[in-house]
Amino acid sequence: MARPHRAVPAAPPAYIGRFAPSPSGPLHAGSVVAALASYLDARAHDGLWLLRIEDIDPPRVEPGSDLTIRQQLRFLGLHWDAPPLYQSARVDRYQAVFDWLRAQGRIYGCGCTRREIIQAAHMLQTAHTLQTAQALQTTEALQTTQALQTTGARQAGPTRQTEPAHQASQRPSQALNTPADETPYPGTCRHGLPAGRQARAWRFRIDTTGTPPPQTLPEATNPLASADFVQPTDGNFPAAQERISNVGKAADLSNITFHDRWLGPQRQNPSLQCGDFILKRADGVWAYQLGVVVDDAESGVTDVVRGADLLSSTGRQILLLRALGAPVPRYLHLPLVMGGNGQKLSKQNGAPGVDTSGRVDAVDILNEAARALGLRQPGTRDVQRWLHEATAQWRARFCGSTINRQ
Ligand SMILES: [Zn+2]
Repeated sequence: MARPHRAVPAAPPAYIGRFAPSPSGPLHAGSVVAALASYLDARAHDGLWLLRIEDIDPPRVEPGSDLTIRQQLRFLGLHWDAPPLYQSARVDRYQAVFDWLRAQGRIYGCGCTRREIIQAAHMLQTAHTLQTAQALQTTEALQTTQALQTTGARQAGPTRQTEPAHQASQRPSQALNTPADETPYPGTCRHGLPAGRQARAWRFRIDTTGTPPPQTLPEATNPLASADFVQPTDGNFPAAQERISNVGKAADLSNITFHDRWLGPQRQNPSLQCGDFILKRADGVWAYQLGVVVDDAESGVTDVVRGADLLSSTGRQILLLRALGAPVPRYLHLPLVMGGNGQKLSKQNGAPGVDTSGRVDAVDILNEAARALGLRQPGTRDVQRWLHEATAQWRARFCGSTINRQ
C-alpha cells in the first residue's frame, strides 16, 4: 500500500473522545445520555470531543437526520471540537485497511447464507450434545454416583452452580456480552470456499493460538497511516499495557480482558461469542466493527464512552485493533435508558426524538439525562453553567480512580 507522509504533532492531546450516532433519526433520550456522558468525560479530562456520523449503512440512514442531530447537540450546548467525520466519506480508508488485512491472511471470503450458518451451528451443537451423552455413558460405568454428578454438571453447561469457582472465573461473561440473536459462525469457509461457492461476505479470521502481536506495528508496516489524522503514539496512552492485560500471557488469543470504567473488569471471547466475524457484508456494506475501529484508531481516540448495548462489540474491536497494531482505547459503557415498556430506548423500538425545537428548555432535557447518569442536577437554568457544574461532578467521579463510580 502507498504510504502517505504523516505529520504527527509533538504533543497530541492526551484525551480524545467521540460521540458516534448513526443518522437513522433524531437523538432520543437514550442517545442524549450517551452524548452527554462522552462530552462530560472529554471536558473533565480537558480533552477533545469529536463527532462522527456513522452513515455507512444505507438502509438505516434517514436523509437529513445528521443535520437534525447536529442541531440537537448545539441546542444542548454540546459543541464538538473538529469538523464532524462522516463514515460515508471514509470508504477508501476502510478498503485500504481491508486490503492490508487480507494481504496478512486475516480475511477470508464466506459463501454461507444466514440459514446455512444457523443449520451448521445447529449440527455442531447436536454433535457436541451426542459426544457429551456418550462420554457420560462411559463415565457412568466407571465412576461413583457422586463423581458422576460433578461431571454431569460440568458438561451440562456453564450456568450450573456446582461448577468450581475457578472455572467460572475463566469463562467469558457471556450472559451479559452475547446478544441472544447471535449465532456463532461455525467456520465453514475458514479453510477455503466449498467447491462451486462464491464469497458473499468477508470475515475476519480470529487467531486463537500463537504469539500475541506487538501493541503497535512499526510505522513501515502500519496500515493506519493517514496524513489527515492525529494518531498518538503508544506513549500517549497511559497504562496501555495494563488495559490489555492478557497480551503476552493468555494461551487463547481470543480471550479478551479489559477494564470498563463503569462496569469494572470484563472478559469476552469473540471466537466463542460470534466466531470469525464479518468485515464486509454480502450487500457490499462495510461492517460496523471495521468502520468503528479504523475511525477510532485514525482519529486517535483514547476513550470510548457509549451505551452498554455496544459492550458485546468491544472484544471484536480489540481483536481488530490488535491486528492493526493500533493502541486500544479505554472503555466506559453506560447503563441503558429503558422506556416505559421495559425495552431499551432505541430508534428501532420507536423511541421518540428529543424535542429541541425550543418548546422544551435545554436544561430540562439535560436534567433528565443527568438523572439517568446518577448525577445531581446542577441548580442553574444556564446551559453553559449547567455543563460546567456537571463536568465538575463527572471529574470527581471518574477522573483519577478508574474503579470508583459512585
Ligand atoms: Zn461461510
